[in-house]
Amino acid sequence: MLGNNSSPTGVIHLENVSIPSTSTIGAVGAGNRISYDMINFDRLLYAVFSTGASKKLIHDAMKYANERRSFNKPIGDNQYVQDMIVSMKVQHELIKSISHTAFTHLNSGSQETASLCSIAKLHSTEAMCKITQDFVQLHGHYGYSTPFLFEHVGDALGLKLAGGTSEIQKMNIYNQLLKEMSA
Ligand SMILES: Cc1cc2nc3c(=O)[nH]c(=O)nc-3n(C[C@H](O)[C@H](O)[C@H](O)COP(=O)(O)OP(=O)(O)OC[C@H]3O[C@@H](n4cnc5c(N)ncnc54)[C@H](O)[C@@H]3O)c2cc1C
Repeated sequence: MLGNNSSPTGVIHLENVSIPSTSTIGAVGAGNRISYDMINFDRLLYAVFSTGASKKLIHDAMKYANERRSFNKPIGDNQYVQDMIVSMKVQHELIKSISHTAFTHLNSGSQETASLCSIAKLHSTEAMCKITQDFVQLHGHYGYSTPFLFEHVGDALGLKLAGGTSEIQKMNIYNQLLKEMSA
């Protein structure tokens, strides 16, 4: 894969598998509920990951903007460069906030959990792509070099696919709205 190297991909074959009732996770017949809870948790994890990853990118962006000089001054003195870092910070705070909200609902088992975990996953992973794009832009030609570019862009793009694509999150959010309407 281009990034996310701690998530190896492989094929799992299951043939004639029989699970003794003593080895089930939860009660027999409760699997569907458990797997949906895990899916919500997994989606929220992408938002939590994005909170940490965006914080590190902001730290590195501030460092670079104040170290790298062009035309006898740090590039961070330019308001257009500051704008990129400010946008990263704003998105970071939004990701953190929506992660916290989704976690609170997941923890209490609220009806809104599925929708909020999808919203957190959708928003945070789309925002990470924009944050990463700004981060690369801030580094100029160096940002376009390998392995720098692949390391950052590869991880960010993968976030929009893993754990259910952005399109599937949107589908889920809309379906939850339909459910709310008919409740
Ligand atoms: C970094 C990374 C880590 C991953 N980790 C795991 C893992 O740990 N476990 C695991 O099981 N999988 C994992 N995956 C696989 C991931 O879940 C799938 O790639 C993802 O669900 C999309 O499935 P697909 O690749 O078959 O694409 P497809 O299903 O072929 O989709 C292709 C495109 O069509 C869109 N699309 C498909 N169906 C619909 C629809 N009904 N409505 C609207 N749009 C649709 C998709 O959103 C996508 O844009 C990982 C993937 C990546 C990139």
